Amino acid sequence: MKKGLLIVFSGPSGVGKGTVRAEFSKNEALKLAYSISMTTRDPREGEKDGVDYFFVTRERFKEAIENEELLEWTEFVGNYYGTPAAYVEKLRNEGKNVLLEIEVDGASQIRKKCPDALTIFLIPPSMEELERRIRGRRSEPEEIVQQRLAKAEREMKMITEYKYVVCNDNVDLAARIVSAIIEAHM
Ligand code: 5GP
Repeated sequence: MKKGLLIVFSGPSGVGKGTVRAEFSKNEALKLAYSISMTTRDPREGEKDGVDYFFVTRERFKEAIENEELLEWTEFVGNYYGTPAAYVEKLRNEGKNVLLEIEVDGASQIRKKCPDALTIFLIPPSMEELERRIRGRRSEPEEIVQQRLAKAEREMKMITEYKYVVCNDNVDLAARIVSAIIEAHM
């Protein structure tokens, strides 16, 4: 069986990665499996452990780093986030195309370890629109919003490192473009 692709899907927080992903994941022909990350941040309303993330303590996360359980990891706005390696490998060996929804530092680590990874960056139609979307979420204090915006500015500078850049002006269209990119690489 052909080993599945490793797909890195990045973009500043608030750009709508989750919404676009939900849309293109409906396309079963893509044989996608979502890699569930480990994080030390608190769950947002409606988020479930083992579905959206594995929510862990800082101690457990540090243990995972020491035991080399993570394919990549980073600290983002005061919390740790990382990709459990064994699960990704298992899914790819089953022929699934594994999607990592991760930020730019993690993407650089993946690029070094797996140069064949298919990397896609989702951009907002404008930075003003991005700010509006981040504030629209209304679940975080101003200080965190400011940190996310500053990180978004830095992340946008990394787009040239990605194989594909897709604009999320319209969710359906962005999802169709990402689908087509993945299909072209299968
Ligand atoms: P959020 O707190 O909004 O869920 O995630 C913050 C950022 O961390 C997002 O850009 C998200 O894609 C990224 N992220 C989520 N999981 C991982 C991971 O396992 N590794 C890395 N490097 N970034 C992640």
